[in-house]
Amino acid sequence: MRIFDPHIHMTSRTTDDYEAMYAAGVRAVVEPSFWLGQPRTSPAAFYDYFDSLLGWEPFRAAQYGIAHHCTLALNPKEANDPRCTPVLDALPRYLVKDAVVAVGEIGYDSMTPAEDTALATQLQLAADHGLPALVHTPHRDKAAGLRRTLDVLRESALAPEHVVLDHLNETTVGAATDSGCWLGFSLYPDTKMTPDRMVRILRLHGTERVLVNSAADWGRSDPLKTREAGDAMLAAGFSEDDVDQVLWRNPAAFYGQSGRLDLNGPRPPGALHEGNSILRGGE
Ligand SMILES: [Zn+2]
Repeated sequence: MRIFDPHIHMTSRTTDDYEAMYAAGVRAVVEPSFWLGQPRTSPAAFYDYFDSLLGWEPFRAAQYGIAHHCTLALNPKEANDPRCTPVLDALPRYLVKDAVVAVGEIGYDSMTPAEDTALATQLQLAADHGLPALVHTPHRDKAAGLRRTLDVLRESALAPEHVVLDHLNETTVGAATDSGCWLGFSLYPDTKMTPDRMVRILRLHGTERVLVNSAADWGRSDPLKTREAGDAMLAAGFSEDDVDQVLWRNPAAFYGQSGRLDLNGPRPPGALHEGNSILRGGE
Protein backbone atom coordinates (compact mmCIF):
# COMPACT_ATOMS: atom_id res chain seq x y z
CA MET A 1 0.00 0.00 0.00
CA ARG A 2 1.53 3.36 -1.01
CA ILE A 3 0.39 6.29 1.07
CA PHE A 4 0.53 10.06 0.51
CA ASP A 5 -0.51 11.90 3.70
CA PRO A 6 -1.82 15.22 2.34
CA HIS A 7 -1.93 16.99 5.73
CA ILE A 8 0.52 16.27 8.54
CA HIS A 9 2.63 18.53 10.79
CA MET A 10 5.94 16.68 10.85
CA THR A 11 7.69 19.58 12.62
CA SER A 12 5.86 18.34 15.74
CA ARG A 13 6.82 14.68 15.23
CA THR A 14 9.90 12.59 15.93
CA THR A 15 12.20 10.49 13.76
CA ASP A 16 10.46 7.40 15.25
CA ASP A 17 7.31 8.63 13.52
CA TYR A 18 9.11 8.97 10.18
CA GLU A 19 10.42 5.41 10.57
CA ALA A 20 7.00 3.98 11.47
CA MET A 21 5.31 5.92 8.65
CA TYR A 22 7.76 4.55 6.08
CA ALA A 23 7.20 1.01 7.38
CA ALA A 24 3.41 1.55 7.04
CA GLY A 25 3.75 2.61 3.39
CA VAL A 26 3.95 6.41 3.61
CA ARG A 27 6.15 7.70 0.79
CA ALA A 28 4.98 11.32 0.51
CA VAL A 29 3.61 14.01 2.81
CA VAL A 30 2.40 17.58 2.55
CA GLU A 31 2.98 19.71 5.64
CA PRO A 32 0.73 22.75 5.94
CA SER A 33 1.92 25.69 8.00
CA PHE A 34 -0.26 26.15 11.07
CA TRP A 35 -0.59 27.48 14.59
CA LEU A 36 2.16 26.21 16.90
CA GLY A 37 0.00 26.03 20.05
CA GLN A 38 1.33 29.29 21.44
CA PRO A 39 1.16 32.75 19.90
CA ARG A 40 3.98 33.99 17.70
CA THR A 41 5.00 37.51 18.62
CA SER A 42 6.36 38.76 15.29
CA PRO A 43 6.30 38.05 11.55
CA ALA A 44 9.95 36.92 11.80
CA ALA A 45 8.79 33.85 13.75
CA PHE A 46 6.76 32.87 10.68
CA TYR A 47 9.68 33.35 8.31
CA ASP A 48 11.90 31.05 10.39
CA TYR A 49 9.07 28.50 10.41
CA PHE A 50 8.49 28.78 6.64
CA ASP A 51 12.23 28.33 6.07
CA SER A 52 12.22 25.17 8.16
CA LEU A 53 9.24 23.78 6.17
CA LEU A 54 11.20 24.50 3.00
CA GLY A 55 14.59 23.21 4.12
CA TRP A 56 15.11 21.35 7.37
CA GLU A 57 11.89 19.28 7.36
CA PRO A 58 12.27 17.97 3.77
CA PHE A 59 15.85 17.09 4.72
CA ARG A 60 14.64 15.09 7.74
CA ALA A 61 11.92 13.37 5.67
CA ALA A 62 14.45 12.41 2.99
CA GLN A 63 16.53 10.52 5.57
CA TYR A 64 13.51 8.21 5.91
CA GLY A 65 12.65 7.88 2.21
CA ILE A 66 9.65 10.22 2.32
CA ALA A 67 9.03 13.07 -0.15
CA HIS A 68 8.08 16.29 1.66
CA HIS A 69 6.25 19.32 0.25
CA CYS A 70 4.53 22.14 2.13
CA THR A 71 1.71 24.66 2.00
CA LEU A 72 2.31 28.14 3.41
CA ALA A 73 -0.09 30.72 4.83
CA LEU A 74 -1.00 32.90 7.76
CA ASN A 75 -3.18 30.54 9.83
CA PRO A 76 -6.76 31.61 10.72
CA LYS A 77 -6.15 31.91 14.47
CA GLU A 78 -3.15 34.25 14.16
CA ALA A 79 -4.89 36.23 11.41
CA ASN A 80 -6.54 37.94 14.42
CA ASP A 81 -3.21 39.12 15.87
CA PRO A 82 -1.98 42.45 14.44
CA ARG A 83 1.59 41.43 15.36
CA CYS A 84 1.30 38.64 12.77
CA THR A 85 -0.75 40.06 9.90
CA PRO A 86 2.28 41.61 8.07
CA VAL A 87 2.96 37.99 7.03
CA LEU A 88 0.29 38.50 4.36
CA ASP A 89 2.54 41.02 2.60
CA ALA A 90 5.59 38.72 2.74
CA LEU A 91 3.85 35.58 1.48
CA PRO A 92 4.36 36.28 -2.25
CA ARG A 93 8.11 35.82 -1.92
CA TYR A 94 7.58 32.40 -0.30
CA LEU A 95 4.82 31.17 -2.60
CA VAL A 96 7.20 31.13 -5.58
CA LYS A 97 9.38 28.42 -3.98
CA ASP A 98 9.51 24.99 -5.67
CA ALA A 99 8.39 22.91 -2.68
CA VAL A 100 5.25 24.99 -2.03
CA VAL A 101 2.31 23.07 -3.52
CA ALA A 102 -0.61 25.10 -2.12
CA VAL A 103 -1.65 28.05 0.03
CA GLY A 104 -2.79 26.80 3.45
CA GLU A 105 -4.04 26.14 6.00
CA ILE A 106 -6.46 29.00 5.56
CA GLY A 107 -10.12 29.29 6.57
CA TYR A 108 -12.02 30.29 9.69
CA ASP A 109 -11.27 29.86 13.36
CA SER A 110 -13.69 32.23 15.16
CA MET A 111 -15.16 33.81 12.00
CA THR A 112 -13.99 37.37 12.70
CA PRO A 113 -13.62 40.26 10.22
CA ALA A 114 -9.82 39.86 10.41
CA GLU A 115 -10.24 36.23 9.37
CA ASP A 116 -12.49 37.34 6.47
CA THR A 117 -9.68 39.57 5.22
CA ALA A 118 -6.95 36.94 5.62
CA LEU A 119 -9.03 34.27 3.86
CA ALA A 120 -10.00 36.46 0.89
CA THR A 121 -6.45 37.84 0.56
CA GLN A 122 -4.87 34.39 0.59
CA LEU A 123 -7.39 32.89 -1.87
CA GLN A 124 -6.40 35.70 -4.22
CA LEU A 125 -2.70 34.93 -3.60
CA ALA A 126 -3.37 31.29 -4.52
CA ALA A 127 -5.08 32.33 -7.74
CA ASP A 128 -2.26 34.77 -8.57
CA HIS A 129 0.38 32.06 -8.09
CA GLY A 130 -1.50 29.25 -9.87
CA LEU A 131 -1.65 27.29 -6.62
CA PRO A 132 -4.48 25.29 -5.07
CA ALA A 133 -5.67 26.12 -1.55
CA LEU A 134 -6.04 24.02 1.59
CA VAL A 135 -9.03 25.44 3.43
CA HIS A 136 -9.82 24.01 6.83
CA THR A 137 -13.34 24.08 8.23
CA PRO A 138 -13.70 25.32 11.82
CA HIS A 139 -13.80 22.79 14.64
CA ARG A 140 -16.67 24.61 16.38
CA ASP A 141 -20.00 25.37 14.72
CA LYS A 142 -18.98 23.37 11.63
CA ALA A 143 -22.10 23.81 9.49
CA ALA A 144 -22.21 27.62 9.81
CA GLY A 145 -18.43 27.78 9.34
CA LEU A 146 -18.63 25.79 6.12
CA ARG A 147 -21.51 27.96 4.78
CA ARG A 148 -19.52 31.13 5.35
CA THR A 149 -16.39 29.54 3.87
CA LEU A 150 -18.29 28.54 0.72
CA ASP A 151 -19.68 32.10 0.37
CA VAL A 152 -16.14 33.53 0.40
CA LEU A 153 -14.93 30.84 -2.02
CA ARG A 154 -17.69 31.65 -4.50
CA GLU A 155 -16.62 35.30 -4.52
CA SER A 156 -12.96 34.39 -4.98
CA ALA A 157 -10.98 33.97 -8.20
CA LEU A 158 -10.13 30.37 -7.30
CA ALA A 159 -12.10 27.57 -9.03
CA PRO A 160 -13.62 24.88 -6.73
CA GLU A 161 -11.38 22.17 -8.23
CA HIS A 162 -8.39 24.11 -6.85
CA VAL A 163 -9.71 23.96 -3.29
CA VAL A 164 -9.75 21.18 -0.71
CA LEU A 165 -12.13 21.62 2.22
CA ASP A 166 -10.54 19.85 5.17
CA HIS A 167 -11.68 18.37 8.50
CA LEU A 168 -15.06 17.41 7.01
CA ASN A 169 -17.43 14.95 8.69
CA GLU A 170 -20.92 13.51 8.19
CA THR A 171 -22.58 16.87 8.88
CA THR A 172 -20.57 18.83 6.30
CA VAL A 173 -19.76 16.32 3.53
CA GLY A 174 -23.03 16.93 1.64
CA ALA A 175 -22.61 20.70 1.24
CA ALA A 176 -18.90 20.27 0.54
CA THR A 177 -19.61 17.75 -2.23
CA ASP A 178 -22.16 20.10 -3.85
CA SER A 179 -19.56 22.89 -3.90
CA GLY A 180 -17.33 21.04 -6.38
CA CYS A 181 -14.32 21.32 -4.06
CA TRP A 182 -12.11 18.39 -3.06
CA LEU A 183 -13.09 16.71 0.20
CA GLY A 184 -10.56 16.34 3.04
CA PHE A 185 -11.03 14.13 6.10
CA SER A 186 -8.75 14.15 9.15
CA LEU A 187 -8.62 10.96 11.22
CA TYR A 188 -7.86 11.60 14.88
CA PRO A 189 -7.72 9.13 17.77
CA ASP A 190 -10.53 10.73 19.80
CA THR A 191 -12.28 13.43 17.86
CA LYS A 192 -13.11 14.08 14.22
CA MET A 193 -13.31 11.03 11.96
CA THR A 194 -12.45 7.39 12.69
CA PRO A 195 -11.44 4.85 10.00
CA ASP A 196 -14.86 3.14 10.26
CA ARG A 197 -16.78 6.40 9.89
CA MET A 198 -14.49 7.20 6.96
CA VAL A 199 -15.41 3.91 5.29
CA ARG A 200 -19.13 4.67 5.68
CA ILE A 201 -18.65 8.08 4.04
CA LEU A 202 -16.69 6.49 1.18
CA ARG A 203 -19.53 3.99 0.65
CA LEU A 204 -22.05 6.83 0.39
CA HIS A 205 -20.01 9.37 -1.55
CA GLY A 206 -17.54 7.24 -3.50
CA THR A 207 -13.76 7.67 -3.77
CA GLU A 208 -13.63 10.61 -6.21
CA ARG A 209 -12.01 13.85 -5.01
CA VAL A 210 -11.57 12.43 -1.47
CA LEU A 211 -8.36 13.04 0.53
CA VAL A 212 -7.71 11.24 3.82
CA ASN A 213 -5.10 12.61 6.22
CA SER A 214 -3.83 12.10 9.77
CA ALA A 215 -3.44 15.85 10.47
CA ALA A 216 -0.98 14.62 13.11
CA ASP A 217 0.54 17.50 15.07
CA TRP A 218 1.60 18.40 18.63
CA GLY A 219 -1.77 17.31 20.03
CA ARG A 220 -3.12 13.83 20.59
CA SER A 221 -2.93 12.42 17.08
CA ASP A 222 -1.53 9.47 15.14
CA PRO A 223 0.58 9.65 11.95
CA LEU A 224 -0.42 6.05 11.05
CA LYS A 225 -4.16 6.82 10.76
CA THR A 226 -3.89 6.90 6.96
CA ARG A 227 -2.72 3.28 6.97
CA GLU A 228 -5.59 2.35 9.31
CA ALA A 229 -8.02 3.95 6.87
CA GLY A 230 -6.55 1.90 4.00
CA ASP A 231 -6.82 -1.31 6.02
CA ALA A 232 -10.41 -0.45 7.03
CA MET A 233 -11.29 0.13 3.36
CA LEU A 234 -9.88 -3.27 2.35
CA ALA A 235 -11.68 -5.00 5.24
CA ALA A 236 -14.93 -3.37 4.08
CA GLY A 237 -14.55 -4.74 0.55
CA PHE A 238 -12.97 -1.80 -1.29
CA SER A 239 -10.35 -2.88 -3.87
CA GLU A 240 -6.61 -2.22 -3.74
CA ASP A 241 -7.20 0.19 -6.60
CA ASP A 242 -9.82 2.13 -4.58
CA VAL A 243 -7.34 2.41 -1.72
CA ASP A 244 -4.60 3.56 -4.09
CA GLN A 245 -6.93 6.20 -5.51
CA VAL A 246 -7.81 7.64 -2.08
CA LEU A 247 -4.41 7.32 -0.41
CA TRP A 248 -2.15 8.12 -3.36
CA ARG A 249 -3.63 9.22 -6.68
CA ASN A 250 -6.14 11.72 -5.28
CA PRO A 251 -3.63 13.74 -3.20
CA ALA A 252 -1.13 13.51 -6.08
CA ALA A 253 -3.76 14.89 -8.47
CA PHE A 254 -4.86 17.66 -6.11
CA TYR A 255 -1.40 19.01 -5.26
CA GLY A 256 -0.19 18.17 -8.78
CA GLN A 257 -2.28 21.15 -9.91
CA SER A 258 0.56 23.30 -8.56
CA GLY A 259 2.88 21.90 -11.26
CA ARG A 260 5.49 21.50 -8.51
CA LEU A 261 4.83 18.07 -7.02
CA ASP A 262 7.90 15.82 -7.35
CA LEU A 263 7.14 12.24 -6.34
CA ASN A 264 10.17 10.59 -7.95
CA GLY A 265 11.39 9.78 -4.47
CA PRO A 266 13.01 12.33 -2.21
CA ARG A 267 16.30 13.75 -3.35
CA PRO A 268 19.14 11.43 -2.34
CA PRO A 269 19.62 12.39 1.29
CA GLY A 270 22.82 14.25 1.92
CA ALA A 271 24.23 13.78 5.40
CA LEU A 272 24.01 17.48 6.22
CA HIS A 273 21.58 20.36 5.91
CA GLU A 274 23.45 23.68 6.14
CA GLY A 275 26.13 21.91 8.14
CA ASN A 276 23.77 20.10 10.53
CA SER A 277 22.72 16.45 10.67
CA ILE A 278 19.87 14.68 12.48
CA LEU A 279 22.47 12.71 14.44
CA ARG A 280 23.44 13.61 17.98
CA GLY A 281 26.82 13.82 19.66
CA GLY A 282 28.97 13.57 16.55
CA GLU A 283 27.97 9.98 15.69
ZN1 LIG B 1 -3.43 20.99 10.34
